[in-house]
Amino acid sequence: MAGGDHPDYHCLIVGAGFSGIGAAIKLDHEGFSDYLIVEAGSEVGGTWYWNTYPGIAVDIPSASYQFSFEQRPDWSRTYARGGELKAYAEHCTDKYGIRPKIRFNTKVLAAEFDDERSLWRVQLDPGGEVTARFVFNGSGVLTVPKPPDIDGVDSFGGVTVHTARWDHTLDLAGKRVAVIGTGASAVQLVPQIAPIVNELTVFQRTPIWCFPKFDVPLPRPAHWALRLPGAKTLQRLITQTYVEVTFPLPAQYFTVYPLARWMESLGRAYLRLKVRDPVVRQQLTPSYAIGCKRPGFHNSYLSTYNRDNVRLVTQPIDKITPSSVATTDGTNHEIDVLVLATGFHVFDPDTTPTFAVTGSGGRSLTRFWEENRAQAYEGTAIPGFPNFFSTMGPYGYVGSSYFALIEAQTHHMVRCMKRAEQRGATRIEISEEANARYFAEQLSRRHRQVFWQDSCQGANSYYFDKNGDVALRPANTFEVYWRSRRFNLDDYQFTG
Ligand code: NAP
Repeated sequence: MAGGDHPDYHCLIVGAGFSGIGAAIKLDHEGFSDYLIVEAGSEVGGTWYWNTYPGIAVDIPSASYQFSFEQRPDWSRTYARGGELKAYAEHCTDKYGIRPKIRFNTKVLAAEFDDERSLWRVQLDPGGEVTARFVFNGSGVLTVPKPPDIDGVDSFGGVTVHTARWDHTLDLAGKRVAVIGTGASAVQLVPQIAPIVNELTVFQRTPIWCFPKFDVPLPRPAHWALRLPGAKTLQRLITQTYVEVTFPLPAQYFTVYPLARWMESLGRAYLRLKVRDPVVRQQLTPSYAIGCKRPGFHNSYLSTYNRDNVRLVTQPIDKITPSSVATTDGTNHEIDVLVLATGFHVFDPDTTPTFAVTGSGGRSLTRFWEENRAQAYEGTAIPGFPNFFSTMGPYGYVGSSYFALIEAQTHHMVRCMKRAEQRGATRIEISEEANARYFAEQLSRRHRQVFWQDSCQGANSYYFDKNGDVALRPANTFEVYWRSRRFNLDDYQFTG
């Protein structure tokens, strides 16, 4: 490349989850092989490396939850379990030869843009500073576990475990276990551990809408059939259509396609079918509209509350003592193990992204978003942060398979890198004007999203940031795909 000093790497990829793996494969494919992937864990897989709690599985059909260029014919189930997804990540890493370029057990602490040299100075631990012309942030948003802000949570004398950092030496057999939280992680965990433990007490603050899941093993003949020419494409088309009509379209086009409203009767009927005790059923019934927050999908979560050894507690938690969870009605629920199914820091200034990003002229990304609201051009690039792209930037994700997003955002980045190469430019920056135009477009479309129903205010949904914005893209998967190929490259300034 002309101009600027030569950095250690052309691109530094943060994270070896599916985003990072997808970015690396794309870069190799397009001839940009001078990259380093930095991964905090000791293996690839991201979400599926860190989250290994009992029962973990994907909620998007596996045929869609995989790279379009690396489709497996032999998923063991319609919805793969966590271990199989991690194995798929390892398979992609090894098949595409990217493992030698991953630095494991290494955290990215900070990245600062050097205006003079048009490159990023990235602080690694361990490893000190490395420089890279580009940074691709694949560190995700559901990354940093969030313990609950409950008094005494650190004083518990038994074993405490967060779902996102499961301890596999932990033996729950015969124990009195408390689970705090009833989000998507608890929906999968609770039915899995209920038959093992002595007593299970689930502390619910906000109930979750739960729906059945067509989760079945895929027999060998299905694997053979999927090896026939065109079969995987057809399968993907079917599952992608299913995903589109059940996730992004109802969420992003609610006013024209109010599926979420129709689903409410299904949700209530499912509760009636599954939960015997009318009081418990009532407690498990959300008072907010479907779509305000992420629903759960499980065939036995609700019926688990019929078990004699399972109790649902809806009294607010007062504090945690060395031996119990105390609720505000004065009850001490004595336990041996405390499971925190309390989710992640989402769009918290300190954790999104997971490292400090300082752009051109010393501009802080956290401060930029705090002062201007969360925004990113096409969900990936931010003005003042040259040569920096993300998979999960604000207004990028529509709610479909992450793989569709990863492929779109890495394509976007590579188009920019190619243009830079053609022009001998070392600095690519989205213009303020293009970013403002994109942000205004997203806001002008959001009235049709599902999130703006009145009852969403009582849903405690992490979709809403502190400005009340929901940084999900009011679009569909096809549009995201199309625009990653068609966005106007002149929206960027190529200099250096
Ligand atoms: P979550 O959806 O954020 O749920 C956290 C739960 O903890 C909520 O029920 C929350 O109650 C409760 N909670 C938090 N602080 C509390 C407190 N101080 N007192 C009482 N309750 C408290 O977290 P998650 O279940 O880990 O799921 C996070 C996301 O990860 C999901 O939305 C999904 O995107 C992803 N995920 C995906 C899958 C999958 O694809 N299969 C599986 C698991 C997770 P409130 O609702 O009242 O805040």
